Order: sequence, then C-alpha cells, then structure tokens
Amino acid sequence: LGAPEVEALQHADLAGLLPRPSGESDKYRRGVVGVVAGSDRYPGAAVLAVSGALRGGAGAVRYVGGGGPAVLARHPETLVSSGSPHEAGRVQAWVVGPGLGDDARARTAVAEVLAADVPVLVDADGLRLMSRDAVRARTAATVLTPHAGEAAALLGRAREEVEASRLTAVRDLAELFGATVLLKGSTTLVAAPDPAVPVRVNPTGTAWLATAGSGDVLSGLTGSLLAARLPARDAASAAGYLHGLAARLTEGPLAAMDVAESIPEAWRNVC
Ligand code: AMP
Ligand code: MG
Repeated sequence: LGAPEVEALQHADLAGLLPRPSGESDKYRRGVVGVVAGSDRYPGAAVLAVSGALRGGAGAVRYVGGGGPAVLARHPETLVSSGSPHEAGRVQAWVVGPGLGDDARARTAVAEVLAADVPVLVDADGLRLMSRDAVRARTAATVLTPHAGEAAALLGRAREEVEASRLTAVRDLAELFGATVLLKGSTTLVAAPDPAVPVRVNPTGTAWLATAGSGDVLSGLTGSLLAARLPARDAASAAGYLHGLAARLTEGPLAAMDVAESIPEAWRNVC
C-alpha cells in the first residue's frame, strides 16, 4: 500500500552518502560551516559544536559568538569572529543554537542566520528563538534537531505525549515548519517536510549518549554534511548514524568530546 512509513540506513549506504575528498578538493569546495553557539554561561557548547563540525570533514569552521577563546584553546584551526553572522564571510551551511542563551543578541543572530540562502541547522536555544514564519519562508534547507522536550514545546504538547508518539511528533513538526526534523532520544528519527517521504529510524547509538553536550556534537557534525552539500535528509540521517556509531566505539561511559573524537574512526568503519 504505497511507500513504507519508515526505513533505516544500512551500514553499506553510508559510503555512498558521505563526501569523499578528491584531488580537486580545496577547503572551500569541501564546505565551510558557520557555527553560532555558546555564550558566557555555556562556552563549552561552542567547543563541542565546532568539534563535531571539524570531525565531520568541513574544509573550515567559522565560529561566531562570545565563546571564541574557549573554541581557540581547543581548536586553533577555527576561524573565529565576534561580530554578527552576516559579517562572518561566506559559509556553505550554518549551525545555530547550542548553548546560545536567549538574550536579544542571540535572537538577532538566529533571525540573521535563518535569512541566509544556505542550509541551516537549528538546535537547542535556537529552537526557542526561531520564528515559525522565518523557517517556513526559507528557500534553502532547514534542519531542526529537538529532543523530546524541545519538540513538545514546539508542538504545544506534553513531553509524555511526544515520547508516546514519536513518529507522529516528528512528522507533525516537519510539516508544521516545512523543515527536515531529527528527533533525538532513545531512537533517533528523521522526517522530511514532504509527508510522502519515509521517516528514517537510526539503527546506531547507545544510551551512553544521554550525557551533556552530545547533542551539540551532533549539530556540528550535521552542519558539516550540509556544508558538503548533502541533501538535508541524508545529512541528518548520516550524521545520526555516525554519531551513534562513534558513541558505540567508545564502549562504555563517555563524555561528549569522546564522541566527537571517535567520529573519524566511525567514518573509517563505514567507508
Ligand atoms: P541532547 O538532548 O541535545 O543533549 O542530545 C542528546 C543526544 O544523545 C542525542 O543524539 C540523542 O539522540 C542521544 N540520546 C539521548 N538519550 C538516548 C538514549 N536513551 N539512547 C540513545 N541515544 C540517546
Ligand atoms: Mg541539546
């Protein structure tokens, strides 16, 4: 009866989806990711999102925000600026939201990024600050990455209701925002804005991922694949796959940075 409602990426699918640098590659062609994340209160979110983006194969990562010193201390390769996103120079995809806070500056940054004509991933505080009309008005792809609590707030439902009907929730969000939605949790689901497209269920992952900052790593990683010009649904589901595999490779308790650092090994496993 028509297309299946859900599908799962297989190990063998990943090699065909992930970008492969070639002799003609240069850092701009590989893709530049812009990261708008972190705040005085949560500088670590900036570091983790940048880590995820760098390990996702970006040609370069531009970081915009107040967490520059923390980012540079851990990743000297980052291009840091403290101005606003539109002053940052060209990027092929934006990641906005992890640890961003909710002051006026953060709100303006989210609006600016959503007005850009390149793919945008919105997570965490960005999900609270974005306007639905601004997301719906976009022409380039948008990826939203809520956990159940954030999804509940966006839908105006109770968290328990989202947890009890995750497939419905992810589909409803994708339709409501006209965006690709990756719903995080014990099973990660990815829905496209078109309801005829099957939802992707992520087959990797481990409950050890339920630790502070692991979502920030996923944001950066997904941003990298968007900057490499993967379609939004493929970028989100391939990132979810690698993120879960990277966590499994740590085989036990993990800190979010361990997940970022295991991404290259996860990548070698599938390519
Ligand atoms: P966040 O909620 O933004 O901190 O992101 C948490 C990350 O951990 C997401 O990638 C979730 O999918 C993942 N995660 C959280 N809880 C679980 C769980 N019980 N089993 C597997 N993955 C989980
Ligand atoms: Mg989060």
